[in-house]
Amino acid sequence: MKFRFKLISGTILSLLILVCIYQIYWLVNFHNEQYQKMDIAVKNAISNADFKEIAMRIIDIHRLLDLDSIPRQNTNGIMSVQEFIMPDVVVRIESTKDDGTKIWDDANSMKVSVQQGFHRTIDSLKPINFQRFDSLLHSELSLSDIYIPYFLEHVDIVTDSVLMRLPKNLGNIDKDKYQLYSFPFAEDKSKEYHIYIESPRWYILKEMWGLVAVSGLMIILLIISYTYLLKTILRQKNIDEIKSDFISNMTHELKTPISVTYAAVDALQNFGLADNPDTRNKYLDISKEQLMYLNSLVEQILTMSVEERKNLKLSLTNIRLSYIFEEQKSKFLLTPSKPTIFDISIEPDNLSIEGDNLHFSNVISNLIENAIKYSDDSVIIKISAYESGNYTYISISDNGIGIPKGALDKIFDKFYRVSTGNIHNVKGYGLGLSYVKTIVEKHGWNIEVESTEGEGTCFKIRIA
Ligand code: ADP
Repeated sequence: MKFRFKLISGTILSLLILVCIYQIYWLVNFHNEQYQKMDIAVKNAISNADFKEIAMRIIDIHRLLDLDSIPRQNTNGIMSVQEFIMPDVVVRIESTKDDGTKIWDDANSMKVSVQQGFHRTIDSLKPINFQRFDSLLHSELSLSDIYIPYFLEHVDIVTDSVLMRLPKNLGNIDKDKYQLYSFPFAEDKSKEYHIYIESPRWYILKEMWGLVAVSGLMIILLIISYTYLLKTILRQKNIDEIKSDFISNMTHELKTPISVTYAAVDALQNFGLADNPDTRNKYLDISKEQLMYLNSLVEQILTMSVEERKNLKLSLTNIRLSYIFEEQKSKFLLTPSKPTIFDISIEPDNLSIEGDNLHFSNVISNLIENAIKYSDDSVIIKISAYESGNYTYISISDNGIGIPKGALDKIFDKFYRVSTGNIHNVKGYGLGLSYVKTIVEKHGWNIEVESTEGEGTCFKIRIA
């Protein structure tokens, strides 16, 4: 059993760790993928914005020079260039011939060459409009749903100086927090655009927050379920052990009163002892005492089975409190284990409640039995019942050993027993109060306890 439990919990724990690792691995992978996608999208956006900025400058030049007057048959020079890069015109560039031989190493290097060629020609005719490049870059990035803060620099690599910076009033910035994208648009690499993007990985993480939150929640839920499962299994295991203990002890205990009573009755019947009133009474007393003991054992079994049956049905009747209290008093005084004094007060005398007669009697019996069990050499038990507001209150108090403060909220738990300290040989299974609470709550009532160590304990039932 122990090995099986360890095996099962170990397997579940390993699975849980595997699921967590897989979740984290998946998230990291997804993050990297998104980062790579964004990296490509940013590079494309820069290139496209640059193309468009050049195209717009060409249109400006075109307007200035009124190039429409030049005949269209002339396919050389600026006319063909203008048609090539007009905005909104898609130019398809083949990097291989039909026979498969390469024109360019790849389409991208060709695109860069063309772009640098345009810069060489156009930059000398009309200077770069950096502001326009910025707004074009902005709209290109937003086309790819990227709304990340950045700043731009137009850098002269030869003199290592910044020719322009946008936004202009940027102040001092820590460039380490930014990721640099350089765009060398001059053929001799002497000029570059530097685009500084603010922590792209962090930006992606923020975009992924929904996924991260769901994954985190899943992991937390898994951990909670696992802990709960483990606790339940452990509790169940514990209960099973106590239960088998209980059954073996009980079977043993049940035999004693049965055989003693049987022997007493047998002696009265078969050996003529019934004729002598003294002996007869003595044997009848023994039988009665043993039957009482048997009754208390049966009560304990009942307690146990009530604990098991969650769908217990109560049969409600009108119960006169004085009757139950007197009955219990005489039961306990019949064979007192120590000097016991009962002080019963019921106000009004005929006070009655609606409840299940058998279970209510057991509740009172359990509380009285505890008062006797957990007291020193003698005990005074005060039972009182009274009405207040819409409620009836029943309190059972004793001048016994009391309950430590730390144990007060646990005593109603199944199988809980206060580590007895100076009280030895007090038998019990920790079921009595758990049964009391179950029955009280089943009736829709409430039970509270107050106790001072060394002075006594008071249980109070509030009946609605
Ligand atoms: P059991 O008596 O079988 O141990 P119970 O559920 O009836 O189990 O009680 C739980 C624990 O509460 C007891 O072990 C005892 O330590 C404590 N207890 C209950 N009633 C009293 C009382 N009247 N005075 C002192 N301690 C009590």
